[in-house]
Amino acid sequence: MELEKILLRKVGEAVGRFKMIRDGDRVAVALSGGKDSLTLLEALLLLAKKAPVEFSVCAFTVEQGKFLRPIEPLGEYLKQRGVDWTYHTDRPSLRLLKEQPDHGCDLCSRYRRRAVYEIVRGLGANVIAFGHTADDFCESFLRNAMFTGRVSALPPITYSRDKEFRLIRPLVFVTEDITTRFAETLGAPIIPCGCSQRTGTVRKSIRGLFSEIEKDYPHLKETLLSAMGHLEPSRLLDPRYLDLEGHKSDAIEPLLPILTE
Ligand code: SF4
Repeated sequence: MELEKILLRKVGEAVGRFKMIRDGDRVAVALSGGKDSLTLLEALLLLAKKAPVEFSVCAFTVEQGKFLRPIEPLGEYLKQRGVDWTYHTDRPSLRLLKEQPDHGCDLCSRYRRRAVYEIVRGLGANVIAFGHTADDFCESFLRNAMFTGRVSALPPITYSRDKEFRLIRPLVFVTEDITTRFAETLGAPIIPCGCSQRTGTVRKSIRGLFSEIEKDYPHLKETLLSAMGHLEPSRLLDPRYLDLEGHKSDAIEPLLPILTE
């Protein structure tokens, strides 16, 4: 199956390049009920059978009171697939939703993070895998550059504060057109989150911008991902990375293109 091969190649590339998974790891996949995390789960289950390192995969879902459909069909699907899945209702998140229904993402994700660490600790896992896609990395890159004044996106690999857990994002090179098509082939129930219905204007604008440019440049996201992996700090404006005193005398100033209006 062509799509499966493409997915595994891209996930394998991310896992290898960023040393995401190591011998003896137990990886807990954060299943949100959407197409991306389901694709991630399947990809890691397939990879576990082929990879040169030995690792096991389990999955969990945190209920924060935002699912728009009952979760049971997802549980049934995972049971049939033989997936070790834990479903956890986070009471503090439900209270938050009741007491402050308009709370923002900051508070919500802080509650979720606490719940996730608790669940994963109980599962005996040392790695947590999240389903952020290439689209999420590109959006975050542009959003940060255009609206927060920073050149940054998301970390493909990082650690919890005390290094108890390694946090990984193996779908960094997988675009959402792949996760959408792959999830369709799984026949898995997709459980939408209420928040997905109210996409913010910035996110919507960036997505619109991408689809407009991609009509002429279909590899736009691959190019952006490549840019994130090839920094040229001496051509940016952060003095920490500039040769202010000319110490690197052998550095050759490249010819700059003449900018015209
Ligand atoms: S989008 Fe919704 S579920 Fe996600 S962090 Fe924000 S409030 Fe929470």
